[in-house]
Amino acid sequence: MSKDPVLEVKNISMIYHTLNGEVKAIENIDFKVYEGEIIGIVGPSGCGKSTLLSIISGLIKPSTGEVIVKGKKITKPSKNIGYMFQKEQLFEWRNILQNVLLGLEIQNKVDKMAIEKAERLLNTYGLGEFKESYPRQLSGGMRQRAALIRTLMVEPELLLLDEPFSALDYQTRLAISDEIGLILKKENITTLMVTHDIAEAISISDRVIILSNRPATIKEIIDIELTCPEGRWSPINCREAPEFRHYFNRIWKELDIHV
Ligand code: ADP
Ligand code: MG
Repeated sequence: MSKDPVLEVKNISMIYHTLNGEVKAIENIDFKVYEGEIIGIVGPSGCGKSTLLSIISGLIKPSTGEVIVKGKKITKPSKNIGYMFQKEQLFEWRNILQNVLLGLEIQNKVDKMAIEKAERLLNTYGLGEFKESYPRQLSGGMRQRAALIRTLMVEPELLLLDEPFSALDYQTRLAISDEIGLILKKENITTLMVTHDIAEAISISDRVIILSNRPATIKEIIDIELTCPEGRWSPINCREAPEFRHYFNRIWKELDIHV
C-alpha cells in the first residue's frame, strides 16, 4: 500500500467540558485508511466511538490532533464525507427517489443524469420498483439500503457508518449487512464502520480497530484475512471461513468486557 491514504487521523484527543467537569473521551488516536478499505471499529459501549466518527466527519472539533481527508484538513462537515447513523434519516413525506436525490438537491445538482444514476442504483440494489413508494411502505432493511444509496449519490470520498444496522432485528441485520458489504466493495467505497457486533466487523472489514474503555485509545488493529468460499465472496459467506473463530476469540479477549 504505497498509495496516499484517503484518511489520516492524526493524534486525536477529545475532552468534553460539561457542567459536571471534564469527560475525556478519546486519547491519542492515530491511524490511516487507504482507498477502498473497509475498516471496522469495535469498542466497549460509551468508550468514544461515536465521538471519533463525529470528529472525522467534521461535526465536532477535537481538543488536539487533526483529521486529513485526501490531503485536506477537515474543519467542518463536507459533502466529501458521507455519514450514516443507526437510524436512517429518510423523510416520510418524500418518496424513495426523492429521498435518494436529496443530497444533490441541497447542492442544486439534480439533473437528468443524476436522476438516471439514482434510478440505476435503485435498480441495481433491488429498490427499482419502490422508487415511488414512501419510506413507511418499506421494510427496515430496504430503508437502510435507500439511505445508503442517498449517501452514495453524492460520491463521498469517505463513508462513515455509526452502528448502521443496530436498529434492525437479527435476521434483517444479517441480510442487510451482507448486501451493504457487497455494495461497498463493488462501488469501492472507503468506509469506517462502528459496530458492537464482532462477527459483523470481521465479516465485512479489511481491518478491525479495537478501542479500549474510555478514554478510547487504539488497543490493536487487526488485519482480517478470511478464506472465503471460492467465487462466492460476501460477508455472510465469509463467516464460514476457517479463520473466523480465531479472529472472533482474539477480538473478544481484547475487548475485555466485564459485566
Ligand atoms: P460510544 O459511541 O462508544 O458509545 P460516545 O462517543 O457516544 O461513545 O461517548 C463517549 C463518552 O463521551 C461517553 O462517556 C459520553 O457520555 C460522553 N459524551 C458524548 N457526547 C458528549 C457531549 N456532547 N458532551 C459531554 N459528554 C459527551
Ligand atoms: Mg455510539
